[in-house]
Amino acid sequence: MAVVRGDVVVVGAGLSGLCAARRLVRQGIDVKVVEARDRVGGRTWSQTIGQGRFDVGGQWIGPGQGRVKALAGELGLKTFQTHTAGKKVLEVEGKISTYKSATPSLSVLGLIQMQGALSYLERVRKRVSPNAPLGADNADQLDAETLQTWRQRFVKSSKLTGVMDAAIRTIFGAEARDLSALYFLMYLNAGGGLLKLSEARGGAQQDRFVTGAQSISLGLAEKLGDALILGQPVRTIVQGQEGVEAVTDDDVIRARYAIVAVPPALAGRIAYEPGVSVGRDQLMQRFAMGATVKVVVTYERAFWREAGYSGEVVSSDGPFSVIYDNTSHDGKQPALVGFIVGNHARQWSSQPSADRERRVLAALARYFGDEARLCQEYHELDWGAEPWSGGCPVGGLPPGVLTSSFQHLRKPEGRIHWAGTESATEWMGYMEGAIQSGERAADEVLRRL
Ligand SMILES: Cc1cc2nc3c(=O)[nH]c(=O)nc-3n(C[C@H](O)[C@H](O)[C@H](O)COP(=O)(O)OP(=O)(O)OC[C@H]3O[C@@H](n4cnc5c(N)ncnc54)[C@H](O)[C@@H]3O)c2cc1C
Repeated sequence: MAVVRGDVVVVGAGLSGLCAARRLVRQGIDVKVVEARDRVGGRTWSQTIGQGRFDVGGQWIGPGQGRVKALAGELGLKTFQTHTAGKKVLEVEGKISTYKSATPSLSVLGLIQMQGALSYLERVRKRVSPNAPLGADNADQLDAETLQTWRQRFVKSSKLTGVMDAAIRTIFGAEARDLSALYFLMYLNAGGGLLKLSEARGGAQQDRFVTGAQSISLGLAEKLGDALILGQPVRTIVQGQEGVEAVTDDDVIRARYAIVAVPPALAGRIAYEPGVSVGRDQLMQRFAMGATVKVVVTYERAFWREAGYSGEVVSSDGPFSVIYDNTSHDGKQPALVGFIVGNHARQWSSQPSADRERRVLAALARYFGDEARLCQEYHELDWGAEPWSGGCPVGGLPPGVLTSSFQHLRKPEGRIHWAGTESATEWMGYMEGAIQSGERAADEVLRRL
């Protein structure tokens, strides 16, 4: 086994780990970053499909995400707006309708109920601080029930429930019944509310990167040079009086401190010697990754635009929960992107691939007409089958975990500090949160060095 030495070892070369490393390197600290995959970027991954560069992982940024914007600017990366012009499609309880406004085409009563539910959510989520969720009124009660049972008190219409479910599945890769109400509200607050997380124009899906979101990580990695060790999963982290050792199959990386910048569910698969506290271990065991299959379908022409559609679909019926226009920035490669999420995704990969493609094209034809069946390329990525992600876009918490284990989310275990978007206090679950959490963990270590 080769012994590699540094001041700090960062586990994981996703955006969070790379940003932690960058902050430390800028202060003259000797950092080693160890990554399981043979690429950087983690849950961001950009690929060439047809004539375009597409993200098969995280892709959009929006207003309020200043860190990711600044970093992209520094690296010379350009963004462009998601195409939103035209009518949108809503599919609820087997019925398809179109609308042009920001809100879906529900009946007048449905719209009133939706406004009521949204303003109630706005009021309540503002009281749940991502820094101190347990300080919220009724925190215990909110964490004692699922989002599904809590929501039943103020959302009565099944159509509105269907629309909300599509948004929840897309944001978390999980069902309302999987999540603690308190966790949901804390998450909404970290990103500025349900509408901000759900919308394209003015929301989290507003802009895309011309060369793909992974370009940020590739740019950061280039600057790290041989401080980056790829293709080496960290199996064990040993800590003692003097420092830490991150042990891979080939190397032992000795350092004074470690930053573990991987989702909690995957951090729980690393062996710790001595073991971490019971509270931290329980948190890692219970922080379940969401289930998402991301599908990119390319076409010769953006025929949906020609027919007056924006490409945006919200469906409570599946297999997709949402679809967007995903045409390349120069318009040369027309494409749609759709998300199969939550329970639909959990069952997806066990079906034969020919059936999966047929179901996807049938759904697109339902919304945009038969031309949708004539695609150029069909590309899907089941993130649940990615061993170094275990799902996506984010880990979610069921009832009872925040009240019992919240204090272990960011609290160091001896010389081990925790980063990764799940530990962010702003835009948790997003690229912005990955950067914020990486920088926070780097600052913690800098104070100790
Ligand atoms: C399909 C999809 C769509 C998304 N859409 C968006 C979006 O539009 N906008 C947005 O902002 N966010 C989006 N996200 C979320 C966003 O991509 C993530 O929040 C962000 O990339 C997380 O970064 P991270 O560094 O915290 O974690 P990760 O990217 O998961 O990085 C962790 C790294 O650790 C590595 N690793 C794991 N275990 C080990 C080990 N034992 N040893 C060594 N290395 C290990 C992994 O390989 C990985 O590279 C999406 C994600 C997905 C997958």
